[in-house]
Order: sequence, then structure tokens, then C-alpha cells
Amino acid sequence: MPDSVLANYHTHTPRCQHAVGSEEHYIRTALQAGFTVLGFADHCPWPYRSGFVSNCRMLPRQLPDYLAALRALRSRYDGRLRLYIGLECEYYPAYMDWLTGQLPQLDYLILGNHFDRTDESGMYFGACTRPDEVQRYVTLTIAGMESGLYRYLAHPDLFLNHYPVFDKAAANACHALCEAAAALDLPLEYNLLGEARQHEPGQRGLGYTTEQFWAIAAQYPVNAIGGGDAHEPGQLAQPQQVIAAKQALRAKGLAVLDTLPGLE
Ligand SMILES: [Zn+2]
Ligand SMILES: [Zn+2]
Repeated sequence: MPDSVLANYHTHTPRCQHAVGSEEHYIRTALQAGFTVLGFADHCPWPYRSGFVSNCRMLPRQLPDYLAALRALRSRYDGRLRLYIGLECEYYPAYMDWLTGQLPQLDYLILGNHFDRTDESGMYFGACTRPDEVQRYVTLTIAGMESGLYRYLAHPDLFLNHYPVFDKAAANACHALCEAAAALDLPLEYNLLGEARQHEPGQRGLGYTTEQFWAIAAQYPVNAIGGGDAHEPGQLAQPQQVIAAKQALRAKGLAVLDTLPGLE
């Protein structure tokens, strides 16, 4: 199948405090690279009841500006780029009512399950080093997948980031996530940021976007989709990285989506 459509549904903005570049810079870079579909899914501004202030997401009061800025750009680039406005959210059972209430003003959500229950107190799942922590990730992530709120699971093997060896617990976790994705028909993201980071010096654990995860995924009838997880516009300047990833996944026997159904 030709890679006729280049799409990315995982784009951040500087509001999350760890991304750089204006929305328009991301859009222009994507257009220049040949993307025709661009989804912004910045980190969810959870309305913490404890008074906690996160340093890795926008504040709840910034959400209206995020939506307004992207809506204006959607109009400005109409006809050249299909722009979708979403959020990358964890699965926080205590705050799901709030999230459900936000749905009417959003095009989509993706599940990026970074923290255990809430980052007010829960661990970062990218720092799992023990099987019981991995099991927490799997249980909560599958609960999120089953909620039906999310369009895909971002960086499904984030739990391997600092995990030291690919042991039985790690393999079981990959199987459980893939089995759930197949049963729910929920696409799994091949995270291009994680793929690039694995080769950085100083990587402590297995990293994420691992060969091991995708070898297991290929044993299930799941859909894969590439996700740039762009935190700087330059990450959208390399369409060949997306094309190569899609080809490699298809070579493993995986079905790969170019676009998300309903957001094409
Ligand atoms: Zn981020
Ligand atoms: Zn992300």
C-alpha cells in the first residue's frame, strides 16, 4: 500500500512546559514535510483537587486558550491541512467525570498513561523497575482502554523505559496489552519519540517503542499507527522516519493505519 497519507495525531504545544515552538511552527513544518492531517494532543490539564500543580502539562485555565488558538489555525489552514484538536490523557478514575465533560469541545483523546491513578501522588510509569509496578501499569491502562474514551494507546510499552531486563513479567504485560487492544479494536501507537530516544546515550532501561513489544504485538490482530509525539516542530520534519516505521511494522505482519477512522 502506498504511503499516500501522512498523518500525526500526537503533537504537543509549549503549554505543557516541556515542548517548544508555536502551533503555527508545527503546522508549517508538517505541511512542508507532506503531512495532510495533524492532530494536537497536548498533555491533559487535570483539575487536581489537592492543589497540586504539575510541571508537565498546561494549567486547567489554559485550556480555553489552547482550544481557541488551534481553532483559529484550523480555519487559517483550511483546505491545506486537516487539523484536529485533542488531548493526551492518562486514565485517572477520580477525574474521569471531568474528562467526559470536556469531550464536546474536543475532537479526540489519546491514552498516554504516564502516572499511577494521578500524578498528585502516583508513580511515573516510565520509571517502573519491578514486576508489581508493571502490573499496576497494565491494570490501569487496560481499564482506560476499556473506558471507550480514547482513540488509541500512546507509547504502550512506556513501562519498559527504565525496566532493566525483558523478563517474564515484561512479556506477560505486553501480551495483556496487545490482547486487550485486539479485543477492543483499539490501535497501538508506534511512538517515534521513544524510538529515537532509545539510541541516546545514558538510556537506563529497555526504553520504549521496543522490538520486544512489537514482536509480541505482531502475534495479535491489532492495528498499529505511527505517532510523532512531537515536542518540537523539527520532529515533524522527517516524514521518512514515519514511512520507514510503517514499512517495518508491515514487514512484521502488522496492520498499520495511515489515519484514524473518523479523523481522516
Ligand atoms: Zn510530553
Ligand atoms: Zn505525548
